Amino acid sequence: MSQCIEIQKVSVGPEYLTARVRIGDGYPLMTNEDLDGTTRVWRLMPQIASHICVGDGGKTFREVMGATELAHLLEHVAVELMARTNLGDDVSYGRTKAVDGVARTYHVQLICPDDVLCVGALSSAAWIMQWAFSGGGAPEPDIDAIVQGLIALVQRITTQEQEKAAFDETVRKQQERAEAKRVAAEKAEREPWTVVPDDMVDQWAEGREDQR
Ligand SMILES: [Zn+2]
Repeated sequence: MSQCIEIQKVSVGPEYLTARVRIGDGYPLMTNEDLDGTTRVWRLMPQIASHICVGDGGKTFREVMGATELAHLLEHVAVELMARTNLGDDVSYGRTKAVDGVARTYHVQLICPDDVLCVGALSSAAWIMQWAFSGGGAPEPDIDAIVQGLIALVQRITTQEQEKAAFDETVRKQQERAEAKRVAAEKAEREPWTVVPDDMVDQWAEGREDQR
């Protein structure tokens, strides 16, 4: 059987992540076509019921979850996962729209405080949907473990980015020093009378030390 949620394309803008997802063949398009699956998701994270649906005129998700698109449920699962990491804004939300003229295909848009967090939450949400709509069974997704995994993922990437930035900075400084040396060497060749002998520099530095 195919995947419940096929993530076809992800684009990340400054504020939003937009994923184009297709609901796999053989899976229901609407939550009311498999209420057992929908209930499985709700049991894992009952908090989704009190989410506000921005795309639905400010209704709560509770009002629509019994008969809405699976893609919309996916959106709320991803939003809930992101909210639980406490890494994003206090208000996280998304919206879901069917792609015109393409069967079983939707654009799911999520507020994106952090690309890595957002993509991670979306793929974890897809996995939860897969579990819920293919009969449930053991092991049940461990939401706390998934959230901890997302936090660790974001922190790992942040550390890597910081290390990369520190490395780039070191390289930049080395290049600057090498360039300064080259310029000084050129100048020494062109204007040898401007070169201060090293021992004089040492004496000057010592004199400055004494003055402290
Ligand atoms: Zn909604």
